[in-house]
Amino acid sequence: MKQGTLLIHNGYEIDPASKALGVPLIQTSTFDQSAFFDPEKAGAKPPEFDYARSGNPTRKALEEIIAKLENGAAGYAFGSGIAAVSSTLGIFSTGDHIIAAEDIYGGSYRILNTFYKRWGLEMTAVDGSKPEEIRRAIKPNTKAVFLETPSNPLLKICDLKACIAIAKEAGLLVIVDNTFMTPCLQRPIELGADIVLHSATKFLGGHSDVISGLAVTSTEELGKRIYAVQNGFGAVPGPWDIWLVIRGIKTLKVRMEAQEETAQFLSRRLREHPRVDTVYYPGLEDHPGKAIHDSQASGAGAVFSFKTKSAEAALRFLGRVKLAASAVSLGGVETIASYPVQMSHASIPPAERQRLGITDTLIRISAGLEDKEDLLEDFKQALD
Ligand SMILES: *Cc1c(COP(=O)(O)O)cnc(C)c1O
Repeated sequence: MKQGTLLIHNGYEIDPASKALGVPLIQTSTFDQSAFFDPEKAGAKPPEFDYARSGNPTRKALEEIIAKLENGAAGYAFGSGIAAVSSTLGIFSTGDHIIAAEDIYGGSYRILNTFYKRWGLEMTAVDGSKPEEIRRAIKPNTKAVFLETPSNPLLKICDLKACIAIAKEAGLLVIVDNTFMTPCLQRPIELGADIVLHSATKFLGGHSDVISGLAVTSTEELGKRIYAVQNGFGAVPGPWDIWLVIRGIKTLKVRMEAQEETAQFLSRRLREHPRVDTVYYPGLEDHPGKAIHDSQASGAGAVFSFKTKSAEAALRFLGRVKLAASAVSLGGVETIASYPVQMSHASIPPAERQRLGITDTLIRISAGLEDKEDLLEDFKQALD
């Protein structure tokens, strides 16, 4: 089945007990285990579910759905994208070394550079768009490479196949944050990655109404290592949030298609605007990473960014734009304009931000489901 069909016929489309068209929301902390203790039923198998931190039928549905969509062996749900990231990093040990792309999600970088650093997990940051930098950073204690493509907020492209080849040669695990692309557009496990991570808060949930995260592993064995952290660390989501993500995922394909069409339209039209300097979007023919992106993903996604010619123009845009919320986050049905220097990347020292190209003229757009012509008119008045 193709992804569009798989989103609907995901194995959980009809509940076997009630025949409901959907996954029951099982709101419980614990499960009755009496059958297991009944001497007349000696030899009964231990119950599948015993305590809801360890497992819950609603959560199991989401975990199996995301594993199927990413073409992986096992999936795990977490209370946030960052909980998925930090729990996954919990499979490593003090003294291990991780190579991370320098422009992975700010929160992922921070957990590596603060919390895990204190616990003795070493990290080297490299330019993810230059696979050779990964090769040069490999040390005897290197265990994994952490990648994200397209990057945030400048939409740089990492050559997944080239990076995975280098990592595999050295026996390293490859972790890919696939939040921006979703399994509809990019499936890193099919390219050889070992673990795929998601902030389900973004496109998977899709409606800006839930915080959630997911991890998918390429093998059952790796899955068991993540399960040990999921259960032991306990950063699990509640069933209601899980249910919202399951519901959101059903419309993922049509949302991605419509939102990408708007991103394609706006990115092209905005770069003709006199107050706009540069537009960053892998859907544009002259994007430096376009050929690589097209070789590993089936669409450019719904996020792009642009630089205005002055900081004043950027601030005026954010204050005056009406149809986009000036906010953090992305991937919802609503268009969102964010200002990385004061939002997602505010904690990076100014000199480092400048080096990375994250200037006070940079605005990131997550295209929503509004009519694209209305968005363009609104963006124009906000720039003018
Ligand atoms: C938002 C985001 C995260 C973190 O997810 P939360 O749900 O906010 O914890 C991780 N990676 C990427 C690429 C993101 O955009």
